[in-house]
Parts: sequence; structure tokens; C-alpha cells
Amino acid sequence: MPKMMRAVQVSKPGGAFELVERELPEPASGQIRIQVEACGICHSDALVKFGAYPGLSLPRIPGHEIAGRVEKVGANVTEWKKGDRVGVGWHGGHCFVCNACRKGLFINCERQQITGISYDGGYAEYVMVPHEAAARIPEKLDAAEAAPLLCAGITTYSPLHHWGVGPGQKVGIVGLGGLGHMGVKIAAALGAHVVLFTTSPDKTADALRLGASEVVVSKDAAAMQKHAGSFDFILDTVSAVHDLNAYLELLKLDATLTQVGAPPQPVPLSVFGLIFKRRRLAGSAIGGIRETQEMLDFCAEHGLTADVEVIRIQEINAAFERLKKGDVKYRFVIDMASLR
Ligand SMILES: [Zn+2]
Ligand SMILES: [Zn+2]
Repeated sequence: MPKMMRAVQVSKPGGAFELVERELPEPASGQIRIQVEACGICHSDALVKFGAYPGLSLPRIPGHEIAGRVEKVGANVTEWKKGDRVGVGWHGGHCFVCNACRKGLFINCERQQITGISYDGGYAEYVMVPHEAAARIPEKLDAAEAAPLLCAGITTYSPLHHWGVGPGQKVGIVGLGGLGHMGVKIAAALGAHVVLFTTSPDKTADALRLGASEVVVSKDAAAMQKHAGSFDFILDTVSAVHDLNAYLELLKLDATLTQVGAPPQPVPLSVFGLIFKRRRLAGSAIGGIRETQEMLDFCAEHGLTADVEVIRIQEINAAFERLKKGDVKYRFVIDMASLR
């Protein structure tokens, strides 16, 4: 009889998350098996739930905000041993030999694997991943609060770090959801003066508590105008269609607006706003594994974690409905002890 594990899977597009028993996978050469302690629920898990990711095959166990411990290692794994505290995010492994990998840009690997999409993810007692997909989670970070760092944390840390955010700078964060709340915390920890942009005035108190120095209600044109031409960097986490030009106008000469939220349709761009101040509009995806490790160490050093609502796995369908309405502060995390 093979050993079994409990997990939650999606077996048809748009179907419910189903609690199932699966055969416990045995790590092959280069793989590690992780006992999952906690797994965050990311908006991108909807790509699995609705069968929307190109090439996705169902049934699939979703989940790419994983915190746990190495439980078994396959042959030829030298950097991990049983008991190591690890995390796994969206980036689920790379080939080491393509053009991007040869430059060390593993996140851009031409044969990149995606956790919870290319193979089964973290909504389970155990997950098996290639050894290069894991990063070390410092012991001082709580598993449930650290899990969302593996996606929401690195997705905001990577652009803030890449564009050199630091002390003395005025930095905008657009939107206060799973990504935005980490963006505020990380930008403030990097020493910047953080301004949160939101459409909901009732988020003001929370934004200030999380580290913002100012809050601007983006629907208030006069309030926006006061900040014209004053920002060193703006990180936009909103994936609903909205006016990017309003934010481009707030940038200084040579400053950058970076999108990590992706509106589904093309958005109008007023190019004069770019030309006369040599402004840049950019995008950024997740972050590589080396940068993920740097982010986890930075978060441990500064005592940063996600604000989470911990749920039992039996509550996942209800939690997902609330997530769709934005009704969570600020990330649902599944406690995997509820599976055992
Ligand atoms: Zn994600
Ligand atoms: Zn590659």
C-alpha cells in the first residue's frame, strides 16, 4: 500500500476545492519533499480554480505561498536536509542552461516551472519541489505570517529593491490589498516616505498603522494634484482597470511607475506625460530565488510579516468567495494542521 496524504485539489474548471487523499510523492533526484505548515491563498490561485492558465492540466493542487520544513530529500540534494525551515513561491524551478539562466535571471527561465500550476502545490500536507525552488525561512518568522512573503512579499520587494527605493525618497503605493499592504511595510522599512493611494477612505487608519506617512484618496482630483511631480517611485498593485496617467503625472523627472497589478485590458497612455519629464512606465514579476532569500532575511531583520487571517482548510471555499470581494485583511493563510 502506498503512503497517502491529504490535500485540496481542483478537478474541473470553476469547480469547488475538493478535499482528497493523494499518494504521497517520493522525491526523485534533485527534489525535496516539504511538510507544509502554512500556505497563503493568492489571487493567482484563481487561475487554477477556473482552469485559466495556458497549458494547465487538472486535477491540480494549487498553492504557491508555502512555508514548511524539509521532510525528505532525493538523491543529489546537497543544500537541504530534513528539518530545514523553507518556503516556496510562484517560481517553482528552472533549467540552469537557457540564455536567461546563464545570466542568473532564473525568474525569466525559458523552461520555468510554476508551483501549483506546472506541478502540485501547497494546499496539501506535503509538497514536492525541485531543490532550487526553495528559500530558507528564518526561524524567528511565524510560518503563517511568513507564507505570503513568498509571493506578495517578493512581488513588492523586488521592484522596490530594483529601482533603489531608500531613505529620503517619496514613494507611492497604489492599492491596499495583499500586495499593497506588503508594499507599504517594505517601502517604509527601506526608509522611504510612503504615500498610500486608495479609492476607499476607510483604509486610512490601517495604512498609517502599516507604515504609510500619508494617505491620498485617488478619486479626489485636488488631493492628487497637490502631489504632482513629487514622487521618486510609485508601485501600482491594482489589477482593476484604472487611470495610469493620473499616477504618471505625480512622478518627478526621470522617475518610474512600476506595475505589479495587471489590468486585463489595454489601458490608455498619455505619452506627453512620459516625454517631457523623461518618466518611465515599467512592469515587474515576482522575483528570483536569490532575491527571495534576500527579502526573507530583510523581513526577519526588520520584523516584517504579512497581516493574515488564518483559516482551517475546510473553510477554503468560503474564504475564496470572500477573497474575490476583497474581504480579507490582508491575506488568507491555510493552517495545514487542519489537514492532519
Ligand atoms: Zn501569488
Ligand atoms: Zn532556464
